[in-house]
Amino acid sequence: MTLAISCECGKFKADLDTEPLRYTNHLRCYCKDCQRFPHYLGKSDQVLDDNGGTEIVQVMAGNVRIVEGKEHLACVRLTEKGLPRWYASCCNTPIGNAPGLSMPFIGVIHSCLTPSNEIESTFGPVRLESFAGSAIGENRPTGRGLIGGILKMIQIILVSKVSGHGKRHPFFSAETGRPIVKPEIAG
Ligand SMILES: [Zn+2]
Ligand SMILES: [Zn+2]
Repeated sequence: MTLAISCECGKFKADLDTEPLRYTNHLRCYCKDCQRFPHYLGKSDQVLDDNGGTEIVQVMAGNVRIVEGKEHLACVRLTEKGLPRWYASCCNTPIGNAPGLSMPFIGVIHSCLTPSNEIESTFGPVRLESFAGSAIGENRPTGRGLIGGILKMIQIILVSKVSGHGKRHPFFSAETGRPIVKPEIAG
């Protein structure tokens, strides 16, 4: 099954192949960096929930394929050593985070996935709340599913590496291991 990744203006398009489904991880991250990313792009309303959480689907990097608008792909690190975070520069749509070929997964942000009503039916409910200590607002999350979520993430990375899937990373060059666009460092 395939879900579509697209930016708001429609110039950037990618496919997310959801098979095999067991190597995916549906989570909500409350870390400060994930909160800052949509603010940086002026898209916090579209991305963050009331607790500052970002709903994310982690998948093997090779399961994402850019279809159109590669020239609009942009990358930012929110701190000098921060995780490379990816977005479509045509309309500042956040796409997700992807650390690199050594950890070949992509955490795709819910707001660029369509159809949005198929996220839960495809990946199941959110099972991991990470960095819940950084959550904001009332009725904060408890941080459930940590062990299971981390195990899933390790599984995604290992399977991705062993199968060679991770080499087909849409955001990193298989030859050089570098991001295909130079990350800007947010000031
Ligand atoms: Zn766009
Ligand atoms: Zn985070």
